[in-house]
Amino acid sequence: MSQIDEVARYSFAGGEALLYKEIGKALEYILNQTKIFCVHITTNATIIPDESLIPFMQHPKFYLAISDYGNLRQQAALFEFCYKHSIKYHFHEQQEWIPMEWVSHGRSKDELKKQFSNCTAGKNCHTVYDGRLYHCGQMAAMAAAGMIQPNQFNSLDITGEGDIFEFFAQDYQEACDMCNFGIDGLPLVPAGEQENGKLERSPFIVVPRSELEKRKAWEKELTEGNKWLEQQYLSYKAKYERLNPMRELLRRFKR
Ligand code: SF4
Repeated sequence: MSQIDEVARYSFAGGEALLYKEIGKALEYILNQTKIFCVHITTNATIIPDESLIPFMQHPKFYLAISDYGNLRQQAALFEFCYKHSIKYHFHEQQEWIPMEWVSHGRSKDELKKQFSNCTAGKNCHTVYDGRLYHCGQMAAMAAAGMIQPNQFNSLDITGEGDIFEFFAQDYQEACDMCNFGIDGLPLVPAGEQENGKLERSPFIVVPRSELEKRKAWEKELTEGNKWLEQQYLSYKAKYERLNPMRELLRRFKR
């Protein structure tokens, strides 16, 4: 943390983070970091959190991000849990996923540059895994699965060695060749439980009666929040592109 100025949002992503036995300890640590402004756990509503997690989840910085897997009973039970314990949550209905295969697509360096520049996950979802900061969750997962080897280009040693400038100055990543983020025009896959390629998601969603009005206000805030995130992304992207001449100089200097 000593090398970081601030983190706008820290996410425990999945798989299903609530299955992790040490999630309470991890939450406590992250919530106590003053440089982190917002913390959330993403869940698919298949698990009601353990009671020991309630005090952490009631923290003003925390909210639960609930994915719409389409099981109305499970969703209702989790909403009730959140409502009863005053835990903030956001329900992501109508999510769509990018189809992913993790196979080499044989993309050229220029294609990889374009993909890396287009990819929001590569800019907003930096992920820590096994003592290293990766550009995105996909690369961290690929490293965990042994599909890529961690190196100075795809990840940064967070114990303090390594050059954070060089890490963020990368303009493409070989790992993107096995990923479909940042590729335009792919048909998206509706999120939810699938069996034999068939989506099991209910056509309805659960909305707590008591929250109908609050929900409208929250959605408005969320829309504004998303606009803010989009602006951050665009300004980051512009700054990133402004660094291109410097990257080129750095590369020449190193040759
Ligand atoms: S691996 Fe995928 S998610 Fe990560 S930066 Fe490349 S395109 Fe984006």
